Amino acid sequence: MHFGHPKTIINTRRTSVAEEVLQLALHNGQAGLESILLYFESKLCSSDDYTFLLRELGNRSKVELAKGIFQTVINKGYGNNVYAFSALISAFGRSGYCDEAIKVFDSMKNYGLRPNLVTYNVVIDACTKGGVDFKRVVEIFDKMLRRGVQALLGKWVWKFASEKRSWWKEVMCNVNNLDPNSLLIGNNCSARASWIWRGVRFPRLFALSNNKRGKVAEFRMNSNSGWVWDIQMRRNLVDWEVEQWLQLISLLNNTNLSLLEENCWIWLGNGEGCFSAKSCITKFYDQEGNDGEEGIWDRHVWAGVVPPRVEVFVWQVAHQRVAVKDELLKRSVTGIDHLLCPMCGKCEESISHMFLHCEVVWFLWFRFLRVCNVSFVVLKKMIDFLISWDDLVPGSTIWKFIPRAVLWSVWKCGNEITFQKIKVDSAMLFFLTRFRTATWFGVRFKNVKVLLDSLIGDLKLADSNRRQKKGCSLHTKWVPPLEDFLKLNFDWAMAKGWDKGGIGGLIRDDRGLLLGSFSEKIGDGPTILVELMAINRSLNLIEEVGSSPRQRIILESDSTTALKWIKNPDLCTPLFQTLVIGVATNV
Ligand SMILES: [Zn+2]
Repeated sequence: MHFGHPKTIINTRRTSVAEEVLQLALHNGQAGLESILLYFESKLCSSDDYTFLLRELGNRSKVELAKGIFQTVINKGYGNNVYAFSALISAFGRSGYCDEAIKVFDSMKNYGLRPNLVTYNVVIDACTKGGVDFKRVVEIFDKMLRRGVQALLGKWVWKFASEKRSWWKEVMCNVNNLDPNSLLIGNNCSARASWIWRGVRFPRLFALSNNKRGKVAEFRMNSNSGWVWDIQMRRNLVDWEVEQWLQLISLLNNTNLSLLEENCWIWLGNGEGCFSAKSCITKFYDQEGNDGEEGIWDRHVWAGVVPPRVEVFVWQVAHQRVAVKDELLKRSVTGIDHLLCPMCGKCEESISHMFLHCEVVWFLWFRFLRVCNVSFVVLKKMIDFLISWDDLVPGSTIWKFIPRAVLWSVWKCGNEITFQKIKVDSAMLFFLTRFRTATWFGVRFKNVKVLLDSLIGDLKLADSNRRQKKGCSLHTKWVPPLEDFLKLNFDWAMAKGWDKGGIGGLIRDDRGLLLGSFSEKIGDGPTILVELMAINRSLNLIEEVGSSPRQRIILESDSTTALKWIKNPDLCTPLFQTLVIGVATNV
């Protein structure tokens, strides 16, 4: 189930004219329909309008009107789509005209249309109203499955399981060659039928079970005090498996078996015993911590500030749906050599550890909190953490980008450590997180004119700039690098005829202290060569200055071609390849 997912936006592409036509048609009835449609023909422009009319008339059981409109749109060539047909089928179905509904359904192929999910849903719903030849329904159902339209199965499987003697059960049994009576416990219902046991609640225990296809009766054993559950496993259970085991047993012990009653599922979310998405949502928001606030997901997860893939990721983290090691183990993934967190190497890797409590990660959070001079405690649940974080610095926009950038960067970093066997580098992690925060902010607020580099250096610039009026000047002053970084700026110049030029550069630390510089004349040559020479000279300068191993260096320059070549010497033209490879090995 997808709690907190973005809400589906209902298609409202119809024009306001369509609403007007609907009101007029309802008011005037069948007699005036033709003239109304004629009058509005030029204004009702799309098939969306007509589909809307058909659907609305269907909902009001105005079948004759719907039929009239359908005929008009078919003649005009607008209605030649699946939605118009589905809307008419639904209109017939709702009013109990099942044969008509099936007739429209059958006529689709004459128009070269293939029924889709919506069509199957309405036609089968129409059939459930009764009066339709049972064999015909089974045929439609069967065809749907053979065409690979399976999304509706969930709905019908539920009906199948929860309704004892229903029409649905007959259809399902017929299609699948099942005997409806075989579902009585007394008739030894097979565990194979139980997808809950197999896939959803206890996949690990199912994997370890000695008897995967056994019937319920085979898991019972008679003892002096009546019968008890007897489930055999392949081996002894480890700690976390025991936890699942206890859950399973307590679930079973709370269940009473009866030899007379038929097996069925009952939804406890509402009084009716039958599942509905609405009652499920209501139940979810009534649970602890959800406070009936559907809006929290929209506000704090689907906030629309960072790229969609990052928002999806944040949503997964908040729902414990990220493949960290302890989650993988629960899903029986093999090949995990150890469970320790890749960042600190001290604790087991779980979602709350990896993103909140790990000392490396918490230090990262702490550094951001220090930027804004706020204090904070770690909360247990990620969504609570996000809610509190977002409200911590009121009025700041860039602040909301930070936790998303932290989660994403930590995840990327953890993967790099695991798969590329590199060492954790907290200064680099801090830098990358700021880099992402600033970049995402820049993408989201294009009208805020702050240089990316300045923003990385001082995230608070974002908010002060947003408050200023538009059209303010760019920050062009030099921005110091972060702690533990050195920044090397270099540039070059070349006269028009490529006959004389010069290169220069300087290196400074986070306090802006000048550590070294160079400024040299060079001879003639193309500009790209000068760029490369400037870089080469800069690297020599770094060596001269001698940085400590924990200091990282940021190279700042406009020479994008040269930097691209250094990253990938294969792209370079052969003429400069030796020089580029020389520089690349130096980096
Ligand atoms: Zn850790």
